[in-house]
Amino acid sequence: MSTIHDIAVVGSANLDLVVDVAHVPLVGETVMGGDLQRYPGGKGANQAVAAARLGRHVAMIGRLGDDEGGAILRSALEADGIDTAHLVTTADVPNGVALIAVEHGGDNAIVVSPGANARVSASDVDAAGPVLASAAVTLLQLEIPLDAVEAAADAATGTVILNPAPAPAEPLSDALLQNVDVVVPNQTELATLTGHRGPVDAVVAAELAAQLPCPVVVITLGGDGALVVTEGTSTHVAAPSVGPVDTTAAGDSFCGALADALVGGAGIVEAAEWAVRVGAATTLRPGAQPSLPTPAEVEALLRP
Ligand code: ADP
Repeated sequence: MSTIHDIAVVGSANLDLVVDVAHVPLVGETVMGGDLQRYPGGKGANQAVAAARLGRHVAMIGRLGDDEGGAILRSALEADGIDTAHLVTTADVPNGVALIAVEHGGDNAIVVSPGANARVSASDVDAAGPVLASAAVTLLQLEIPLDAVEAAADAATGTVILNPAPAPAEPLSDALLQNVDVVVPNQTELATLTGHRGPVDAVVAAELAAQLPCPVVVITLGGDGALVVTEGTSTHVAAPSVGPVDTTAAGDSFCGALADALVGGAGIVEAAEWAVRVGAATTLRPGAQPSLPTPAEVEALLRP
C-alpha cells in the first residue's frame, strides 16, 4: 500500500532545551535563567509539523537518536499525523539537541549538537525515493549533511523549497541550486549564499537574490515580513504587527506555510502573504513545535 503525501521533508529533528534569560551570555559569562523546558524541535521536524498543523499530509525523512530525545521526537511527529516510516532510529548515536537561550524580548541564541542528524545520508534519501517522487512539495534545510540535501533535491519531482539554514560555511553548488525551485533565506543567509558583506536591506536583497540560479527567492525579513523576488521583479509582503513572545521556529513556520499554500495551488506572492501571517502567529507563543498554529489559531492569534 502506498500513501500519498502532499509534502516531504528531508531534514533534522532535535530536542530543544530552552532556558529564559534576561540576556544571552557573552563569551566567558555565566547567566542565571528560568526553569529548563524541553520541546521537540529541529528545522526539519518544525517545518514538517508546521505543514501538518495547517492540514497537509507530510512525510519526514531523516534520523533520530537511540535515546529518550529520539523517542520524544518520534511520538511528537506521530501525534501530528506525520509519516515517520523513513525516520530511522540510529543505534548508539544520541539524538540532535539544541541548547536555546531566549531573551525576554523574544530574541534567542542557539547551539546545536547534530547527533543522529549528522548521519543522514544519500542512501537514506534513495530509500525514500517513492515519497520524493510523489510529494507535490519537498522541503529542505541545511541541518543534515549536504550530500543528503543534494540527493533529495535531485530525487524530488515536485516543487523543491530550500531553506538554507543555518547559513552554510561555503557557497552552495550551482548543481544543488539548479534543482531548487524556491530558496527561502533570511537576510543573513542570503548574504552568506551570495558572499555579500554588509547590511542587507530590501534593495540589496533584491539584487543579491537575482544572482542565485533559482527562479524564485523569498527572503524573510523578521518583523518586516518577506520579499518575493522572481523574474526580475520584487514584491514586498508586510507581516502583521505583533508583540513577539518567542521568535523560535518563526522561519520554520514560514517555510511550512509557504509549502502548504503552494500545495493548495497559490501563486508565490499569495503563498508569502499566508506565510507571513503564520510566521507572525508563531512568535506569539513560546517554544518551537508547541508554538506552531493551526489555521484557526492563526486567525485567533492575529485578531486585534
Ligand atoms: P528566521 O527566524 O529564520 O531568521 P525571520 O526572523 O525572518 O526568520 O522570521 C520569519 C517570519 O516570521 C517573518 O517573515 C514574519 O512572517 C514572522 N516574524 C518574525 N519576527 C516577527 C515579528 N517581530 N513580527 C511579526 N512577524 C514576525
